[in-house]
Amino acid sequence: MPILEKISQLSQARHWTDSIPLEFHYTAGVAGEEFRRELKKNGRFLASKCAKCKSSYVPARMFCPTCFIEMKETRTIEEAGYVYSYTTVNRNRTGDPSEPVTIALIRFEGVKGGIVHKLNINESGRVTFGMKVVPMLKDMAERTGALTDILAFKAA
Ligand SMILES: [Zn+2]
Repeated sequence: MPILEKISQLSQARHWTDSIPLEFHYTAGVAGEEFRRELKKNGRFLASKCAKCKSSYVPARMFCPTCFIEMKETRTIEEAGYVYSYTTVNRNRTGDPSEPVTIALIRFEGVKGGIVHKLNINESGRVTFGMKVVPMLKDMAERTGALTDILAFKAA
């Protein structure tokens, strides 16, 4: 029965269980791919800059959310980030107790957005808002262009 035909009697309805093999590829988009390439090749974060409002955004993105125009200019972030917010998690994804992990939102002076990542700090009491941090990167040969190329952020 073609999908556009309607069932007129309930006895025509059929049910079966099967599986459909699906494969898909997801891209990070034009700006996302540039961001990932810069992280993989040079271990730096790429920000995009709006020509109209002069705002910069990390991770790099194609359009300014304020001006709704394409951002063609990019720049790499050379300076250390800072801890904008953080929390310590002592449960895993299934809710079972686990080793505490401190997760932070890392922002950069003069740049909107930020990177959420692990902090390589053993005691959460040692973390302070605004503390300067730098990424700890995997060796270049091991990097894939994903945020997991960063092992964690550590105090600068
Ligand atoms: Zn703008």
